[in-house]
Amino acid sequence: MAILDSITATGQRLDHLGACEGGAGNISVLLPDDSGVPTGFANEETVRLPIAAPELAGRSILVTGSGCRLRELGSGPADRIALITVEDAGASAVMRTSAGRVFSRVTSEFNTHLAVHRHAVATGGAQFQALIHAQPPYLTYLSHIPAYQSAHKLNRALMRWQPETVVFVRGGFAYVPFEVFGTSELCDATVSAANTGASVLLWAKHGVLARSADSVETALDIIEYAEASARTEYMDLCAGGRGEGLSLREIRKVARTYGIDTEFLDR
Ligand SMILES: [Zn+2]
Repeated sequence: MAILDSITATGQRLDHLGACEGGAGNISVLLPDDSGVPTGFANEETVRLPIAAPELAGRSILVTGSGCRLRELGSGPADRIALITVEDAGASAVMRTSAGRVFSRVTSEFNTHLAVHRHAVATGGAQFQALIHAQPPYLTYLSHIPAYQSAHKLNRALMRWQPETVVFVRGGFAYVPFEVFGTSELCDATVSAANTGASVLLWAKHGVLARSADSVETALDIIEYAEASARTEYMDLCAGGRGEGLSLREIRKVARTYGIDTEFLDR
C-alpha cells in the first residue's frame, strides 16, 4: 500500500511544520479508477455521502479519520484511513476500514474534500487528486490580517520571496472568506475558489487546502513552499518591510523560463 506510506510520511512532515496540532489537518486522495486501490480493509459498510457526487460513481477515495492525529499515522495508517468507493447514484458509498480502526467517522471536512474531487472530475476529468488540509502557522496568521484577505494580495505578496514558489505553487493562491469548518458554507466557498485553478486555497483564519494532480508528496511540497514564503513575508513585516523581494518583472521572468502561466498575478 505505497499510497498509505505516502500519506503517513506527509502527516509526519506536516507535524514537523507545526501544521497539524491535535487532531487538526486531514488528507484525502482520489485514486485512479483502474489501478492503485488498496486492498486488505476487513470491514465494509454502506454510508451516506455528505454531498451528492454522481460524477464520482465507481471512484475510490482514501481519507483520514475524524480525530486521528496525522503525526500518529505511522502507528498504523490503515487504522486511521478509510477507503470510500462511491456507489452509482453518487448519494452513498461503500466505506472500507481495518479491523483495528481507531475512528468512527471520516474527517468532518470530508464534504469539502468530496466537493473538490467532484469538481476536479466534472471540470477536468481528473484521474488522481491529492488534497491536504493543514494549518501552517505563518500562512494562517497572514489570513488574519485584512491586507492579505484577497487573492490579489496573497499572490503578489507570497510569490516574491523565492523563485521556487512561482514554479511549484504553479496555480497560485486563492482566498476563501471565513466559514466554520465542516459546514456546507465552507464547502461552497472552497469550490468557488477551486474554480480559479489555484494550488493553495487559503481558508481565512483557519488554514489551507492544497491540491495536486500528481502525488501526495507534491501537494505537501506546495504547502512547504507556500509556508516558506509566508514565513518570509512575516519576517519582513516584523523587520519593517525592508526586504526587496522579487519584482513583478522578475516573477514573470521566472514563470516564463519554466513555462508557468502567471494568471494568478492578475487575480
Ligand atoms: Zn482545520
